[in-house]
Amino acid sequence: MGKLVTAHGEVDTPVFMPVGTQGTVKAISNDELKGCGAEIILGNAYHLYLRPGIELIRKAGGLHKFMGWQGPILTDSGGYQVFSLAVLRKLSREGVEFSSHIDGSKHFLTPEKVIDIQDGLGSDIMMMLDECVHYPAARDYVEQSLDLTTAWARRSKDHFSQLPTPNSKLLFGIVQGSTYRDLRKKAVDDLLAIGFDGYAVGGVSVGEPEDLIYEVAGYTADLLPEDKPRYLMGLGTPPDLLEAIGRGLDMFDCVVPTRNGRNGQAFTWNGDLQLRNALYKEDFRPIDGTCGCFACRNHTRAYIRHLFNTEELLGLRLVSLHNIQFYVKLIHYAREAIRDDRFDAFREGFMSSYKKEKGK
Ligand SMILES: [Zn+2]
Repeated sequence: MGKLVTAHGEVDTPVFMPVGTQGTVKAISNDELKGCGAEIILGNAYHLYLRPGIELIRKAGGLHKFMGWQGPILTDSGGYQVFSLAVLRKLSREGVEFSSHIDGSKHFLTPEKVIDIQDGLGSDIMMMLDECVHYPAARDYVEQSLDLTTAWARRSKDHFSQLPTPNSKLLFGIVQGSTYRDLRKKAVDDLLAIGFDGYAVGGVSVGEPEDLIYEVAGYTADLLPEDKPRYLMGLGTPPDLLEAIGRGLDMFDCVVPTRNGRNGQAFTWNGDLQLRNALYKEDFRPIDGTCGCFACRNHTRAYIRHLFNTEELLGLRLVSLHNIQFYVKLIHYAREAIRDDRFDAFREGFMSSYKKEKGK
């Protein structure tokens, strides 16, 4: 348990950050986000850099003003999207050249430019540029890649330190090293020597089996200082989050609650429901009777299934809202359980009802 202090407010950890890729958490207004209990959101540097462009957001007064969100914002570096979404042109010590996935236009990102982009966005928490290696990866490739990521970490920190107001911003380092334990250790040692405000475990959930995700996240978290935030990037399902919290991770972002919500998958304490299924045709109960979100207070499973069936937009909004509230609450209860020293019992209780009663 800890506290994250940013220029736009304090956030208790562990914390879940809804993902606002394009300067919006899809289909959800800021008021609704706050109503769900969300305190901090994630913005995506790669997408915002391509559209509408950083200069425009700078002119608007930063991303907070542009999108009307007053709470803290963490931005990712864009590196993950460059390596997964864009057409990669050339990777060098200097930086990475890529073509936009939207119009094919060519761009070149360096560690310094990525800091400038996030500074232009007015981000409270910035992430360094890194190379995210997919699984499986040969050891010598990972060694070389890690060497590059560490050099980029140093340049990111140097450039960040020269910003006009570095003290009101936070910069996080990202631990790579694939599934090689000694390389993860080396990555952590090098990042600690440079010194960051928080540390992210990157390069997990990139194609490896589930138990390996937990194992790598766990031993990497163990190597990181307890008094700094430990952020597990891009994971996952509700059980994933509790497994990760149990292993010492305390910041999470994931598109699952919104992306899956838009497809009709609702998460509950008793597992997930596929609301498009005929099973719910005449089910006049709320998604979750104990939830209290707008969707659960006002609408039934049968109605939401009907909305999906007829491709009505309200359906995906309702399930996204419910899912965000569920994720925020889950982490909130986990935080209380840690405080009361009963986290293991909480996690086991959750896992057994989540798995046993799936879909009821
Ligand atoms: Zn609900």
